[in-house]
Amino acid sequence: MTANILDATGITKRFDGFAALTSVDFALLKGERVGLIGPNGSGKSTFVNCITGILAPDEGSITFDANDITKTPAWLRARRGLARTYQIPRPFRGMTIQENIEVPLRFAVGHKSARVISEAAQVILDEVGLGEKADLSPKGLTQVELRKLELGRALAARPKVLIADEVMAGLSESEVDEILALLNRLNAEGISILLIEHIMRAVMLFSQRIVVIVAGCKIADGLPDDVMQQEEVERAYLGE
Ligand code: ADP
Ligand code: MG
Repeated sequence: MTANILDATGITKRFDGFAALTSVDFALLKGERVGLIGPNGSGKSTFVNCITGILAPDEGSITFDANDITKTPAWLRARRGLARTYQIPRPFRGMTIQENIEVPLRFAVGHKSARVISEAAQVILDEVGLGEKADLSPKGLTQVELRKLELGRALAARPKVLIADEVMAGLSESEVDEILALLNRLNAEGISILLIEHIMRAVMLFSQRIVVIVAGCKIADGLPDDVMQQEEVERAYLGE
């Protein structure tokens, strides 16, 4: 029995010969909060895409919740509890905020009555702080509200693991704190979280462990204070 909910080994991904990821190993413990950082273009989103099945890695294997999911399609990974947000939220603009949650919810829980789905969606909207806006269009939402909706859509899959890809970019300090509080609540409810983020204050506050990817290679993995003191990490950030 391993305590890892997620285990990626030797993940390599090339785009037309360009190595976006080179043999990246990564493990997430059950209940853990990990920050993934690295300069722009270092391969963070590509890694998320490989883990969630949007991209097929050229090499490597992935285990999730004690199952080998290396060849499992993205939709089935999601249904088994591996959820992610997208860097650029794209809600269904023609639907209400509530319907935006109901779509992935129906997909995750299968055939349930409209009332059951609606109630479950309301619970999620309350959880992310959009309960009052359920019947509105997402078109009127602010940036921070759009990020909350994006998190709500990920939560609809009832995830065991949540991968949050830059959910705080462009937000004010207090809005960042709101999202952090939300992520911490979800983590306290048992969801393991991988946070990909540029805002170092948030990463340091949130993470129990930090992983650094530079030019597709993992260069550090450890306690936040230790990792941030590593010369190679400092150099990568100064060079940005
Ligand atoms: P990050 O999320 O760390 O900013 P990405 O994973 O988005 O970085 O990108 C890593 C590198 O891979 C970049 O050089 C990017 O241009 C390249 N890349 C990402 N996705 C693709 C793709 N679908 N096709 C070709 N190149 C890609
Ligand atoms: Mg990215």
